Amino acid sequence: MKDVKFLAGRANWIKGSALADVMKKAAELRAQGRELISLSAGDPDPNLIPRSVLGELAKEVLENVPASVMYTPANGIPELREELSKFLEKYEGYKVSPGEIIITVGGTGALDLLGRVLIDPGDIVITENPSYINSILAFEQLGAKIVGIPMDENGMRTDLLEERLRELEARGEKVKFIYTIPTGQNPMGVTMSKERRKALLEIASEHDLLIVEDAAYNFMRYEGKATPLKAMDRDGRVIVAGTLSKVMGTGFRIGWLITGGAIGKKVLMEKSPVDFCAPTISQYIALEYLKRGYFEEYHLNKGLPGYKEKRDAMLNALEESLPDAEFTRPIAGMFVMLFLPEGADGMAFAGELMEKKGVVVVPGKPFYTDESGGNAIRLNFSRPSKEEIEEGIKRLAELYCEKF
Ligand SMILES: *Cc1c(COP(=O)(O)O)cnc(C)c1O
Repeated sequence: MKDVKFLAGRANWIKGSALADVMKKAAELRAQGRELISLSAGDPDPNLIPRSVLGELAKEVLENVPASVMYTPANGIPELREELSKFLEKYEGYKVSPGEIIITVGGTGALDLLGRVLIDPGDIVITENPSYINSILAFEQLGAKIVGIPMDENGMRTDLLEERLRELEARGEKVKFIYTIPTGQNPMGVTMSKERRKALLEIASEHDLLIVEDAAYNFMRYEGKATPLKAMDRDGRVIVAGTLSKVMGTGFRIGWLITGGAIGKKVLMEKSPVDFCAPTISQYIALEYLKRGYFEEYHLNKGLPGYKEKRDAMLNALEESLPDAEFTRPIAGMFVMLFLPEGADGMAFAGELMEKKGVVVVPGKPFYTDESGGNAIRLNFSRPSKEEIEEGIKRLAELYCEKF
């Protein structure tokens, strides 16, 4: 039976990720018994996550909290929202009431729900160029048009943002919000400077736009400062999508959306029929994790130094083996963006690197909102071991030197 005719019109906006092909190819090679080094992950390191401690919490919660296997309120269990409100005040430097927090199925759930209540087909969403592919896809699925603003080592070019906004407004286009990952940006690994953060807030205020702050990497900062936009927000313009994924593990699916008012109300109404509630068992585990100070004990004190070491290993390896290449130097997040020489094909390079050298990387191109970025390669340092990073970069550099 031909089922295409049953698809809704909006199904035309649903596009698969261009990265699926890379991952499929890697899975095929692995199935054939090839051992691959992966620098392609979007995950933290399971060995830097206190799995046995979390296991004990899971056991305790399941045995002692009957509600943990039940439906709970759509906006999250009150105890977790209260704990999170204290946590954000302590570690992010801003105060929000538990009532403004909605616990979601990861940051992904937060962004999807927000998009659903903000985006009309044809609306413009401003992002960094490049930006996180899943967010681009989520907004496009709702009919948004993505306009990406170029970045440099200080984050989104706010001068170009202003120019672009004037152009769009002159054409009568409707811009709804600016989506940004200001800290440890995925895929660039760049952290927005304080000046740019101020400029961004000012521009949003002048043009009366919302800012959606994707805080996925706010807790993965190795040095320097990065005041959250929300902590600098004077007129309530910043909506936060946060997550414990990069801290506790991506499998728990615990994130949050911070927004009050009419938007918060609509998100909550939208949420019930979508997912009923974020995984209850994970919510109770997250509650105990935060309440017992495990964030500090295990993440800040043990996990972060481990990631920093791996970040350093990757940067050192790149500097040694590709001294002339251009790449970003992240102070936060999980990624380094490497640029092949101008005009080189990153997609083809990634394919060849996998086939010939057994190293999996993610081409940067699919993260770009326009035709640029063809020579970009996203490298992950959080998930592989130090040895894998060093060996992986060595082999990458071999291919690089063979080709360029
Ligand atoms: C990982 C990530 C998220 C959130 O992932 P969840 O697992 O759904 O919490 C959001 N934005 C960016 C940029 C990310 O890298």
